[in-house]
Amino acid sequence: MTVEIKPCPNCTSTNLYKTERISAGGGYAPYYLPGLGKFLSSAKFDVVVCADCGLTRFFAREDACMRLKKSTQWRRI
Ligand SMILES: [Zn+2]
Repeated sequence: MTVEIKPCPNCTSTNLYKTERISAGGGYAPYYLPGLGKFLSSAKFDVVVCADCGLTRFFAREDACMRLKKSTQWRRI
């Protein structure tokens, strides 16, 4: 699956910055992707920030996305 990150959906800027493989938490951190990590390893996501308008987006990585369907902690809407 290819994710189209550019342009910014809010202001159409292409002045975007991304961090790689931030842990989705657990332990002392808020757990943003419950049920989608591996045993003893929380799911990871990339964070993309638009340098022009500040819109911040979280992209769960592909392995976490694939676990959504089977997870009991997520409900398709
Ligand atoms: Zn923007």
